[in-house]
Amino acid sequence: MVIPSKKFKPTPFMFPMLCKACGRCIESCPQHCIEEGTEVDPVTGLTPVVVDLEHCNYCGLCLEACPEPKGLMPLPRGLDTNDMVLSDPFTFFDEERDRRPTPETVPDERVPLPALEPMVLKGTHASAIGAVLGGCRHFFGYPITPSTEGAELMANLLPDLGGFFVQAVSEVATANMLYGCAGAGQRSMTFTSSPGFSLMLEGISYMIGAELPAVFVNVMRGGPGLGNVGPEQGDIKLVCRGLGHGNTHALVLAPASPQEMLDLTMEAFDLAFRYRNPVIVVGDGYLGQIAGRVTLPDHLVKPGLPSWAVYGDAAHRGNLHTSILLNEPDLEAHNRHLNDKYRRISEEQQRWDAHQTEDAEWLIVACNTPARMAQGAVKELRERGIKVGLFRPVSLWPFPVDGLTEALARKPRVVVVEAGSGQLEDELRMALSRRGLAPPRIDHVQRLGGVLPQQREIVDRVAALAEEVVS
Ligand code: SF4
Ligand code: SF4
Repeated sequence: MVIPSKKFKPTPFMFPMLCKACGRCIESCPQHCIEEGTEVDPVTGLTPVVVDLEHCNYCGLCLEACPEPKGLMPLPRGLDTNDMVLSDPFTFFDEERDRRPTPETVPDERVPLPALEPMVLKGTHASAIGAVLGGCRHFFGYPITPSTEGAELMANLLPDLGGFFVQAVSEVATANMLYGCAGAGQRSMTFTSSPGFSLMLEGISYMIGAELPAVFVNVMRGGPGLGNVGPEQGDIKLVCRGLGHGNTHALVLAPASPQEMLDLTMEAFDLAFRYRNPVIVVGDGYLGQIAGRVTLPDHLVKPGLPSWAVYGDAAHRGNLHTSILLNEPDLEAHNRHLNDKYRRISEEQQRWDAHQTEDAEWLIVACNTPARMAQGAVKELRERGIKVGLFRPVSLWPFPVDGLTEALARKPRVVVVEAGSGQLEDELRMALSRRGLAPPRIDHVQRLGGVLPQQREIVDRVAALAEEVVS
């Protein structure tokens, strides 16, 4: 006995005006129900296909073949072809959306963790663990030294957590995979290093335009070009001012220890979803590789699902993410909306660490690994009786100008220490200038090409400058 299938078999339907005449459905139909059209549609100027369902077996292959989101579709239940023909294609999909359930946010859960003994972790591993604790379940990336160990650990961890690890064919593909994953409301990330990060910029610009969240950990290495695998801070300008074309900004966090690699990467996911924007964590090659004592947080995040996600259920299916706004006033309004968001981030997310700045006559400004050398220099210089403090920006964009202004209240002389040619210094100058403040005299210690400034040269530089002032 043949038991008739109770499976719903959809009837194909298409508004001719919305057919792009690509012909894929013609090739897909085993019953030859679909033919090239002969009538030019007066609205589109295209020639839509003609569907005749007399021999249709409702296999649905044409529905799968049609690449157009509003092309061939299953006839909605309860409607027949005549109803549809009388519908206005321009309003049908809006009405269809109105009939859908409203997408709702499934909130993240904060799950307490037991207190554990501190561990010794290298920076990239600490960052990967922070990502998982922050709810990241999907990784896309392309290996590049000195960030690869982070990706390698994610490849080990994510499959057991129900997530995906995908080694993309390139960094360009990586950024676009992150776009898709973020569009589905999922927490995703990549590890990369300077030349790889450069290749992701187009995708990052699209993500910022479409307001999609993901975390990019850029373990900076020597440049320009291929450079080398030594530590540098040559991407500060890129992450703060050059995230692809257009009006783009992302919150940029600069850890200075394996502990901060974990903490800031974990928090980066919350921030990315709070502002619906990529977040960049910039380390340097040394920070990625050194091991340090790391204490795990007291909780982990079990990710929920935002209402805006394009997720595979009826409620979320009507969502759309795009950065395509071809009408100039629409695009201008969108950019104003982005600017409002950037302003909010600038007000809410300035982060810094001020060390012995209260009485400082000399202020060293440094971030990432150079800040560690600078902290040692502060100690040594204080022992010699020179009043030195350290101002460490933890957010590079927005630059923590509120904290800097406080640290400059006693008018100390400033020495910027960086593994770069003045990119941090430029951010500092620009932040003060935008605040309407004249920059103080600024001296610097700079090393390049994968060489870090050493404690000895910072001490010698500040001591020599202090000597000049006295004499
Ligand atoms: S449902 Fe199957 S048989 Fe019917 S038109 Fe589509 S491809 Fe052809
Ligand atoms: S696949 Fe879709 S868009 Fe292409 S011809 Fe068929 S109905 Fe039209």
